[in-house]
Amino acid sequence: MRVTVLGSGTAVPNPERFPAGYLVSEGDFHALIDIGSGVLRRYAATGLDLSDLDAVLLTHYHTDHCADLAILLFALRNPRYLNRPALRILGHAGLKKLLEDLRQAWPWVSAKGYDLQVDEIAPGSFQLGPLEIEAVRIEHTAESLGYRIRSPSGETVAFSGDAVDCPGLRELARDVDLFICDSAFPDEEPGIGHMTPGEAGRAASDAGAKILCLTHFYPECEGRDLIAQAEASFSGQVLMAEDLMVFELS
Ligand SMILES: [Zn+2]
Ligand SMILES: [Zn+2]
Repeated sequence: MRVTVLGSGTAVPNPERFPAGYLVSEGDFHALIDIGSGVLRRYAATGLDLSDLDAVLLTHYHTDHCADLAILLFALRNPRYLNRPALRILGHAGLKKLLEDLRQAWPWVSAKGYDLQVDEIAPGSFQLGPLEIEAVRIEHTAESLGYRIRSPSGETVAFSGDAVDCPGLRELARDVDLFICDSAFPDEEPGIGHMTPGEAGRAASDAGAKILCLTHFYPECEGRDLIAQAEASFSGQVLMAEDLMVFELS
């Protein structure tokens, strides 16, 4: 299983870090976890075409995590994607209303010439192509979910989405090979509704994660040693996400 960081940034524009988005690939199956603005440009930089995209999982509906949904749906109206394989979009309650509201604003994002499957999911496990997904309730917004993903050969990755320190993070990241965790503000300047590196390190340590990848950096993180802050409470490997960083889990 390959995990590619497409956006390690936030709602505040940063030329190096696009808003939230990650690509999980297993063979020729490709799923996006979140799709913030600009994430489709990063997706194109991986060499994949939109005809290769099978699914989009959303952690929640803040705009820095889903703004490119409209861009995706409009792009898929291009005749080149006529009769492309079905696209699945999954998220917690509220997803269907969000898509309906987008269609109200922009009628031209309606699916045409391919099958669009939209599923509102509750916390729990389900199969998505070759991937085993576990959706876990995370505290951030009323609809926030984290995703724990297991490949057919047993590698695991967990995505916190935006989060505050909560029991769901430990459940999500238990014994995972890679934990990609919100670390939006430094320990000395914590922000409401988000994690700090110290909190991410403690959650990763409690959960028994092997590698902790910090992500979703607001400008307050600039110039701070976030890795040292996480390492204060986590003895495994700590990395800072960068756009187009690739993890090969095998
Ligand atoms: Zn959020
Ligand atoms: Zn966010």
